[in-house]
Amino acid sequence: MTPQRVRLSVLSSSSAGNSTVLEVAGTPRPRLVLIDAGLSPRATRTRLASLGASDRDLAAVVLTHLDRDHFNAGWLRYLRRGVPIWLHRSHAGRATRDGILYRKSELFDDAFEPVPGLKFSAALLSHDDLGVAVFRVTLPGSNRSLGYATDVGHPSSTLFSHLADVDVLAIESNYCPRLQVASGRPAFLQQRIMGGSGHLSNQQSADAVARIGVRERAILLHLSRQCNTPETAGMAHQSHGVPVTIASHDQPTPWLDLSSPAPLVERPPLVPAGLFA
Ligand SMILES: [Zn+2]
Repeated sequence: MTPQRVRLSVLSSSSAGNSTVLEVAGTPRPRLVLIDAGLSPRATRTRLASLGASDRDLAAVVLTHLDRDHFNAGWLRYLRRGVPIWLHRSHAGRATRDGILYRKSELFDDAFEPVPGLKFSAALLSHDDLGVAVFRVTLPGSNRSLGYATDVGHPSSTLFSHLADVDVLAIESNYCPRLQVASGRPAFLQQRIMGGSGHLSNQQSADAVARIGVRERAILLHLSRQCNTPETAGMAHQSHGVPVTIASHDQPTPWLDLSSPAPLVERPPLVPAGLFA
């Protein structure tokens, strides 16, 4: 298979809605794959349009898990018109209860291709009761790779080994423990987030980038609006020396071309949320 250009934009990332688009070049039209669909179809369409893309080209939706900030129920009617949705087999029971299983639903265990040539390899990590899928994505006709890890609970050897040496890693950097404790949130909620089956802190996320051996760029996902700031997350991630992009909840990141190596640059200064360094 000849290499095809693949670009990525994080359309939105926060506890209010997570969605990332991969665009695989093609003729006459590109094919779009959403990783998580936590924005409404309308908001997704608007953000795609701001990138020059169209939801008419949506070819598949891949879900890490079924929490509301990763799958907006507004998609159910939309997807039943014919777009396949891919979800981990361990989520099938909840998907049945939530009405997400339909004619075009596809269950995956480990390897699958939501569009031809775009190879996903999944591993299931702990998150609440049912777990969360993390993905290693290999681009069509190439050995270049993207890692995608959100809501992973705690650093684990499976996380590190499954995503080892990816070129680009999108990973959650959810909270600063100091801001979490100062937030005034109820103790049970803090425990749920920080207790090992919720989210990664900034430092855990930065350590994971180093352990995974990310080659080119880290994209920071799912920053808590109450218990984190782009500056705090960026500071923690200075330790590994890999350039970072910080995704935001209110605007998409510009396209990042995953197909070609990023130019070698000096470590860039911190940038405002949503902008590439
Ligand atoms: Zn989440």
